[in-house]
Amino acid sequence: MITKRELTGFRRQVTKNETENALAWLNDELPRNYYSKNGRRAIVELLDSTKSLLDLTNSMRRQHRGVRLSKDLSRLALWVNRRMEEYPSWPIVMWSPDGTLVFGEDFSVNGRSLESEAATAHCILGLAEANVLDRIRRCECNRWFAGRKNQKSCSAACRHKRYERTDAFKASRRQYMREYNRLKRSGKVK
Ligand SMILES: [Zn+2]
Repeated sequence: MITKRELTGFRRQVTKNETENALAWLNDELPRNYYSKNGRRAIVELLDSTKSLLDLTNSMRRQHRGVRLSKDLSRLALWVNRRMEEYPSWPIVMWSPDGTLVFGEDFSVNGRSLESEAATAHCILGLAEANVLDRIRRCECNRWFAGRKNQKSCSAACRHKRYERTDAFKASRRQYMREYNRLKRSGKVK
């Protein structure tokens, strides 16, 4: 019998892999021929729509404590399902480098280099199912990253750039300049 802890550990590992795979694709880290212009747009649309689907569903459940589907919500679910129909997958078995049997998925290619695009689409749905899709975010520098709760920037450098534009920074800068000018007038600084 599989224990709950084993299952949680497995799910965590799957989520980690899905996050890494999705980010690698989104950040153009794979070979050029793995991408197409339409593919990029399609994946970002799928990501945004699935996030909205989760958000709307959560707010519906908060408001009504149950299912009360709005037209928007139904339309969105239909859209995501239709889009996923373009990425059919089926289970396959293979061996890992150390010889253990691995159960994975293969994806439709449709004569185009879509395999990794299809894999990314499946990762997005997997992350939605694990309820962590909102962590996949795009920084203002255009890089995709897996953020924590309120994290909006991919790095310390980007976080600082963002902070510099906030009101708090502008206010403290104004305060500093006022003080500086006052001292300058008094002749204490040159
Ligand atoms: Zn950044």
